[in-house]
Amino acid sequence: MFQKIAVIGAGTMGNGIAHVFAQYGFTVSLIDVNADQLSRALATIRKNMERQVAKGSLTEADMQAAHSRIITFTSIPEGVADVQLVVEAATENIDLKLKIFRELDAAAPASAILATNTSSISITRIASVTGRPEKVIGMHFMNPVPVMKLVEIINGYATAPEVTTAISELSKQLQKVPCIVNDYPGFIANRILMPMINEAIYSLYEGVAGVEEIDTVMKLGMAHPMGPLQLADFIGLDVCLSILRVLQEGFGNPKYAPCPLLVNMVTAKKLGVKSGEGFYQYTPGSKELVVSPGFRK
Ligand code: NAD
Repeated sequence: MFQKIAVIGAGTMGNGIAHVFAQYGFTVSLIDVNADQLSRALATIRKNMERQVAKGSLTEADMQAAHSRIITFTSIPEGVADVQLVVEAATENIDLKLKIFRELDAAAPASAILATNTSSISITRIASVTGRPEKVIGMHFMNPVPVMKLVEIINGYATAPEVTTAISELSKQLQKVPCIVNDYPGFIANRILMPMINEAIYSLYEGVAGVEEIDTVMKLGMAHPMGPLQLADFIGLDVCLSILRVLQEGFGNPKYAPCPLLVNMVTAKKLGVKSGEGFYQYTPGSKELVVSPGFRK
């Protein structure tokens, strides 16, 4: 059913999504408004594929073939003209996503499925600006996409059952495990994860424990591979804050109110790994973590 797939946005998620589609034999149109970002994405994909070759999970020839299946575009109409599926992974901003989906609806073939990788924005809302809400669905990959097994598939209010089946089968072709959920704020992944992260930040804010202690309790006590504060740094504190606001607004329940410390850190542009400092400090170009002294109690 699917041969050619467009991926909108060549950032952290878009380059990972393009990588896995190309690896499993699909032709990919990778589209971003920023040409530099497209060059960076192609370089990142090559580096990550080379890592797979070094580990023996991909052959050199398959890597060359996969990489050459990715074609880049800076304009949506050009890149989606002949695709069967679009996966949108542009910046998490509702107005931007609505604009992109209006444009996709006008430019992609009428039969194409339009999927979004949004972490928190309503699929039903996105679908409502298209003339094909039955073909709009959430296809929520996890970061890093080539490594993480889950695809959370989100049915909008109008998503047709055959579209859900097609996207589930496609996820399996990518060697991922699809998990189908309904369209309510935060879906399942972030509805459960973000309150936990927020509670960890509240524990720090109230002085119950320091950064290392909070993360150690959750790593060693709950067998989480990464503590919640470190995970928040990896996701991006701005992203965590915007998802909490979607939960708070969507449910109208104060239990989702973001911790004032998180709000302050985002206002101060301490966004985690991407800005070099969050709950931990990150040496540029290194994965080494140094706990920020400001948060030790
Ligand atoms: P990012 O900021 O790394 O990349 C976003 C990209 O979108 C940028 O390259 C930007 O130039 C591009 N873009 C902006 N406007 C565009 C337009 N009109 N047309 C085409 N491209 C455009 O963001 P990200 O972290 O990759 O997140 C992308 C999406 O994936 C968001 O919806 C986010 O919620 C979701 N998501 C993120 C993660 C994560 O861990 N980062 C995990 C799951 C889902």
